[in-house]
Formats: sequence, C-alpha cells, structure tokens
Amino acid sequence: MTPLQALQKYFGYSNFRHSQEAIIQRVLDKKDVMVLMPTGGGKSLCYQLPAVLLNGVTIVISPLIALMKDQVDSLNLSGIPAAFLNSSQSPEEQKDIAIQLKNNELRLLYIAPERLFGKDDRLMTFLRTLNIVQIAIDEAHCISQWGHDFRPEYLMLAGLKNEFPGVPVIALTATADKLTQKDILEKLNLHEPVVFISSFNRENITYRVHQKTKSFDQLLNFLSERKEDSGIIYCLSRKSTEALAEDLKDEGYAAEAYHAGLNHEIKARNQEAFLKDEVKIMVATIAFGMGINKSNVRFVVHVDLPKNIEGYYQETGRAGRDGLPSDTLLLYSPGDAIKLKSFAMVENNAEQSAIMLKKLDDMVNYCQLHACRRQYLMHYFDEPFPDNCGSCDFCLSEFVKFDGTLIAQKALSAVARLKERFGSAYVIDFLRGSKREKIWEEHKQLKTYGAGADISRADWMRYFRELIAMGYFKLSDDGYSALKLTTKSEAVLKGLEKVELIAAQTIEEKEQEEVSFDAGLMSLLRKQRQEIAIGENLPAYIILSDATLLEIATYLPQKMDELRLISGFGDVKLAKYGREFLAVINTYSKENGLVSKIDQKSKKRISKTKKPARTSDTFKATFTLYKEGKTVTEIAQERGLSPTTIEGHLSNFVQTGELDVSEIVAQEKIPAIKDAIESYGNDKLSPLKEILGDDYSYGEIKAVIAWMNYKQKAES
Ligand code: ADP
Ligand code: ZN
Repeated sequence: MTPLQALQKYFGYSNFRHSQEAIIQRVLDKKDVMVLMPTGGGKSLCYQLPAVLLNGVTIVISPLIALMKDQVDSLNLSGIPAAFLNSSQSPEEQKDIAIQLKNNELRLLYIAPERLFGKDDRLMTFLRTLNIVQIAIDEAHCISQWGHDFRPEYLMLAGLKNEFPGVPVIALTATADKLTQKDILEKLNLHEPVVFISSFNRENITYRVHQKTKSFDQLLNFLSERKEDSGIIYCLSRKSTEALAEDLKDEGYAAEAYHAGLNHEIKARNQEAFLKDEVKIMVATIAFGMGINKSNVRFVVHVDLPKNIEGYYQETGRAGRDGLPSDTLLLYSPGDAIKLKSFAMVENNAEQSAIMLKKLDDMVNYCQLHACRRQYLMHYFDEPFPDNCGSCDFCLSEFVKFDGTLIAQKALSAVARLKERFGSAYVIDFLRGSKREKIWEEHKQLKTYGAGADISRADWMRYFRELIAMGYFKLSDDGYSALKLTTKSEAVLKGLEKVELIAAQTIEEKEQEEVSFDAGLMSLLRKQRQEIAIGENLPAYIILSDATLLEIATYLPQKMDELRLISGFGDVKLAKYGREFLAVINTYSKENGLVSKIDQKSKKRISKTKKPARTSDTFKATFTLYKEGKTVTEIAQERGLSPTTIEGHLSNFVQTGELDVSEIVAQEKIPAIKDAIESYGNDKLSPLKEILGDDYSYGEIKAVIAWMNYKQKAES
C-alpha cells in the first residue's frame, strides 16, 4: 500500500497537507525528523500513517493522559489497532496490552515519558523484545527550558536514541522559536535530522480585537450569532471564570468554568462534558486547553488581555482544528495592560522582567494596531507575510476617512509646545483643557491649552494612535513613552502635507461567505452523530468531524459510493456508520425534494482550509480599474496601495478564470515560476521568492499559483 492509499483507506482523506508526505517518506526511509506545524496542522498523521505501513510497533511519547485516550479511541475507530499504557489502568489491562504487543497486534503504543524510564527497567526491557519501528515524540518542546512548557521528565528521553539506534525518531511541536528548536535537536540526540517547518498561518481563523467597553454585553452580542457553536472564553482570574459561567448560564448558554483551583473531579467532569458537546462554552483560565484536541471549537474569546503573543496565538489556535472557518475575539482595555504590567515583574530577576515587559508591550501593540492583524502575528513569528490577509477585523472593515489635518496640527503643536517631554495621556488632558492639578500651571498659559476641547478623550486617544502608526510621532524609548516629533511632522505643521484620519464610526463588513450547506440536514446529522457518540461513549468529534458533516450537508451523497467521496470517511468508518448516516440523508432528501450534488465535489480536490477566493469589494474595485485599462502601477497609486497588493487582488481573478495570467506576468517569466512551484510547493511564498530572486515579484508568483490552481480545477 502506498502512503496515499493508506491516507484514503484509514483516514478518508485524499491529499496530504503541508509537508506531510515528505515527512512520512523520511520516516519510512528510517531517518530522523523534526516537525514544526501549527496546532491543527495535522502533526499526528505524520507518525500515524507510517505506523500503519510499517510492520511493527510505533511508540508515541505524549505528556498528557487525556490526549492519549482521545488519540487511541480515534485510531481504533479508524481501524488502526492502538493502545496506551498509564497509571490509570489495572494490572490486568496492562498485561492484556503486553500480550497484544507480543503478538504484534498493535500498531501504536502511547506512553508518558516518566513511564518509559520508570523506577525499574521493566518496561524498557520489555520494549527491547519488541519490533519497534518508529518513535514519535509529541509536544517535543517540553524538553526545552526555553519553551513555554518545560517538563523535566522529558529530559529522560535523551537516552532513547541510544536504546534504539536504528529506529527513526520523529519529534513534533507547534512551538516555533529558534532557541527551542535547537534545544530539541540537541537534547533528543537526533541523527542527521531534517527539520520541516510549515507556515504558522491559520487561514481558517479570523482575528478581531474590540475595545472593551461593556464586556458582558459585547460577549452576548458575539455569542448570539453562535448559538449552536462550541467555544472557549479565556479570563485572567479564576474568580471571574466562575462568575462569567454563571452569568452565561442565566442567559441560557450551556457554559461551565475551568481553572486550576477547582477540585480534580469537577475539572474532569467539565472537561469531559465540553468534549462531548454537552457543555458548549468553557469559561477558563489559561490552565485549560493544553492537550484539548477537540476539533470543532468554533470560537475563542479573550475577555482579558493575554500576557504575550505566544500565549494568545496558542490559545486562539485551539479554534478550528478541523479547518472550518472559526472566529476569535479579544476585548482590549488599556487598564488591563496596566494591571498585567505588575504581574510581568519577576522578583529579583531584572533580565527576565524586561523580557516579560517587552512581550506584554508587543501584545498591547497588537491590540492597538491599525493594520492587518495576521500580518503582525506572522511577522512576530518571523514569517514573511507581504499582503493583507483579507480576513481580520482590519481587513474586513471599511474605514471612513476624513481630512484630519487640523486635528493633526493641533496634536503636533501641543507636543512641540510641551517640548516633547510628555506622553499621550498628559498631552490629551492638556489639549482638552483639563482643570486637573496635574497640568502644570505654566502649561495652562500656552495657546494650545484647551485647543482640542471639542474632541472626546477616547477619540483623541485613537487619533494619537493613528498618528503614531503613520509616523507623525515616535515614542521615546526611555520607558516614559514621551511623544517626539519626526521629520514627517514638520511638513504637516508647515501646512505642506495633509493627514487623513479614520472617522470614529467604522463599519465592519458582516458579509462573510456562507458555505451553501443545508442547515436542516446539518442539525439532523449532528443528532445522528451524537446518538452514535453516546452509544460508543466517545466525544462526537471522534466519530466524525464537523467538517465531514458539513460536506455531507453540502453535497448530499445518496449512496455508499457517494459517501465514500466525503472527506473523513475512511473504509472502517464507512462500513461502521455509513448506513446510519445515509438513512438520515435519504429521508431528508426525499422529504425536501433534494438530489445529490456530489458531482460538484471535484474528486475530493477541494481543500477545506482554503476558502474560495474572496472577491470582496476591494478586489472588485481593483479589477474595475484594471478593466478600464489602467496599469498595476497606476491602480496602486490611485488606491494608495502597493503594486504587490494590487497584483494580489488581480490574482484572485486569475484563479476564477476571469483574467489571463499573462495580463499580470510576462509570458517568458511564467515557466521559471511554474518550475519553482512544482519543485517547492506553494505553501509558502518566501522560499519561492528567494529561489527566483529579485526579478520576480510576490505578486507575479501569486498570480502563477492562482493560474495553476485554475488550470487544475478546470482539468479535474
Ligand atoms: P495537530 O496535532 O497538528 O494539532 P491534528 O493531528 O490533530 O493536528 O490534525 C488536525 C485535524 O486535521 C484532524 O482532524 C486531522 O484528522 C485532520 N487532518 C490531518 N491531516 C489531514 C489531511 N491530509 N487532510 C485532511 N484532514 C487532515
Ligand atoms: Zn488582515
């Protein structure tokens, strides 16, 4: 069986994601690898698939007992024999597993690291007698002190490579930073490892930050559109998780709290209920989530400011593991930042305090950003991301701009009069003519004192943020964040340059593409799945993912052969549950006069993570200008965007076939770009750009990718 056949047969997927295929090949060649992929990227498959193909036992080291059970249940359901060994099992159960191992009846064995090198050498001695063919180390960053989740017991794994010298080791993590990476390779003693790094961009997650005003109302507003959905709400304090869960229950939501202070039983019960969809919303501190593999978490809300981008990205990353569109929302108030500042101080450790404060600063900057949020996140993780994403709150908003030159001049001259020695809080009070004592008497004599009294404090704060972002001010880096003028500010003060500001009322575009699935059928399918799940005593998402149900509700397969084409239905699941689901679909279709649309599904080619090209208004605006005969440069100038962005817009129309690629890329350049894409894939633009060099722009590369996608679609 080839890897691709096994993928279809056992997992029901028809193509590999990211670099899964290359990774798997490496393992099959008995080489060591390290895999860095974001949460939900599909790491498990990288060792589960070789485990199926190799005739022996794969050992999986995993830090969390809860996760092991989940994975083992899921594998067994797909017809892959697997088991775990941990302290919760009786001696009989353990013996039973040992016998199965001896008989070569198990493909995967999950073990916690401390078990492996326990008090005596018994387990190790036993394992040596088996035919071990692969060792997978999940959450490999736990071995490094530099990571955010160091576990001393992981250090024991250093001995593994010596114990099983010829056996390939695959280390997997979603933590990307360089120091940790290096540490993992060294500590695990990997032999000539190849490191696979996937893009950390989570395309199916949208990022939103709103100013926190009335947080509960804001939350209810957000939830009102997500009544059926499962999600996590993160709070800073234990107390507020419980209070908020109660309040949500009063509003009719199935919510529970989770934090480290609850007793073990309550925690286990709430977590289990969440996994099984009996509880829809978990209100939690950051203690919750590590090892939660639930694939259908549709939203993650932070009602308080996270301490750093790493944590925020990890927590938001728990949404949408199944690849379906998912939302995140952060409610930001500057007060939270001040509160967290005191937490960030590590006693007697000035160096670490400085690091923590810097991380908090980056987090605050993210919240105050007036640019694409995803781009900021990707840059934070050192990943190039040249264009706006089109799916964060900034990209989805329409901003009404107005001539703010006068306002800017007032702000700039106030800062000049105050000799560039004050931060924005003071300058705003000064501009608004505050009577407060803190305003120096001599300042009250200045002409600009009170010159901006007609503008509210909140609006002033926004304007200052924008002016800083546009480079009219910079902040002193002596810790006081005093506003300083720049060379740009002079032109404005002299009346030589106009400044555009964003009006207070910004409208968020609500229009997101809807998948045209049948909601009535979807809810029946969910019910059917829940029934099976209860019968099997397993969480529903292990039976079938939401993504799979959604495909069914979209394409309405009517027979077994059609159901087979739905992503996520491997052979075993098809045999086990196919009929039950077909019965539901058949009945529903008959009652509603519906027929199969499976033809529209091009042989499982549609990747769920890639949404159809977004032809939002901004793209259309570009296209209209283009059709009027304007060049890319002219459009870029007219729209105040970069040529690369304009080329990106146009690429969308190449992908739909409305525009020929040669309109964007010179004919003679196309073959080289095509070659590069065929050799290196189109997951990431930056390596392609590096290979192709300066003569090729990001926009041109994008256009050729779009063109190849279009051709592929047309051919299939
Ligand atoms: P990670 O461990 O990287 O967070 P998982 O291994 O849990 O991610 O995978 C996330 C989801 O993606 C799972 O539901 C998994 O079945 C699914 N998945 C993995 N590989 C593929 C693939 N090639 N095609 C479709 N779905 C996949
Ligand atoms: Zn964006």
